[in-house]
Amino acid sequence: MTSAAIIVAAGRGTRAGGAVPKQWQLLAGRPVVAYTLDAFRGVVDVIVLAIHPDDRDLAADFGVELALGGETRSDSVRKALETLENRGITKVLIHDAARPLVPQDVIAAVIGALEDHPGAAPALPVSDALWVGQQGRVVGTQNRDGLWRAQTPQGFHFDTILSAHRAHPGRAADDVEVARWAGHEVAIVLGHENNLKLTYPQDFARAEHILKGLGMDIRLGNGFDVHAFTEGDHVWLCGVRVPHGKALLGHSDADVGMHALTDAIYGALAEGDIGVHFPPSDPQWKGAESHIFLRHAMARVAARGFQLANCDVTLICERPKIGPHQAAMRDALAQIMGVDAARISVKATTSERLGFTGREEGIAAMATACLVQRA
Ligand code: MG
Repeated sequence: MTSAAIIVAAGRGTRAGGAVPKQWQLLAGRPVVAYTLDAFRGVVDVIVLAIHPDDRDLAADFGVELALGGETRSDSVRKALETLENRGITKVLIHDAARPLVPQDVIAAVIGALEDHPGAAPALPVSDALWVGQQGRVVGTQNRDGLWRAQTPQGFHFDTILSAHRAHPGRAADDVEVARWAGHEVAIVLGHENNLKLTYPQDFARAEHILKGLGMDIRLGNGFDVHAFTEGDHVWLCGVRVPHGKALLGHSDADVGMHALTDAIYGALAEGDIGVHFPPSDPQWKGAESHIFLRHAMARVAARGFQLANCDVTLICERPKIGPHQAAMRDALAQIMGVDAARISVKATTSERLGFTGREEGIAAMATACLVQRA
């Protein structure tokens, strides 16, 4: 099963006030759409952000696929669906960018319901009494039995919703309307009050209040790396040039400690590893200094709204002796990463002369990184 999410961010909605459409405005210091995308990362295989052509610059740094939207919401969804055609996608979720606080268990419930239904969407039963009003006066009441407040993500079997959108005359309120128009059953799963749609300025204050209540988002990652010895007279370890009777062999400067740390940070973000961002097949990274990789990982941390809480690197080798260089290594990493050295640990161990590190054939390194995002 390959799943995708389309985040619809092409609208020009300005009822929320502000100079840019609401999905690009800041919520507790980050663009609304950044929260929305994070809710789907790691939950689906592909994320497509459907944007207005004018917003290309705003959307460039989120690390997801972009699709240019159309005249109406329905057009935007259809165009985004078409970018996913013939890619083996079987389930697709369609979600409003302006619902940044969608809980992951709501997303999971929609995906789960697609096992038994061609469509599924979250909603909440209407609990308030409903009135009909005219000119500021109550002129009637409306029975609320069987009424639901619709939310997103609305999930569908991919081929079903693509053909429904292609056949639909346009101007549907949402994708459930399109699916039902084409004759497909849509199951209701329970939505969540936190899954509010930011529409008016006061909605932003409410969303920030909810974010505070959700507390801190904490992410851990680990990294491991090995480089073999070759002829030479020094090694680079955690940004420090250490004199030694051998060098480390590698595509870059072979700083095994910095590589493990960089991979730990990418791991905490669930954004792959050094090889994904800097392919060894690309000659431009040959002989590259490893701080380029670490700086990039830290830029991703900032772009995702996280801070490094701490990190811990262990170098595994018999020689060179690490102790005399430990403080310099912490300082070098602190400078590259832009964090206090008190948050950075570098330590070393031998492997009791066992294995490849014991035979002094190379150096291994492992690292852990902890990232936090304050609401
Ligand atoms: Mg390496």
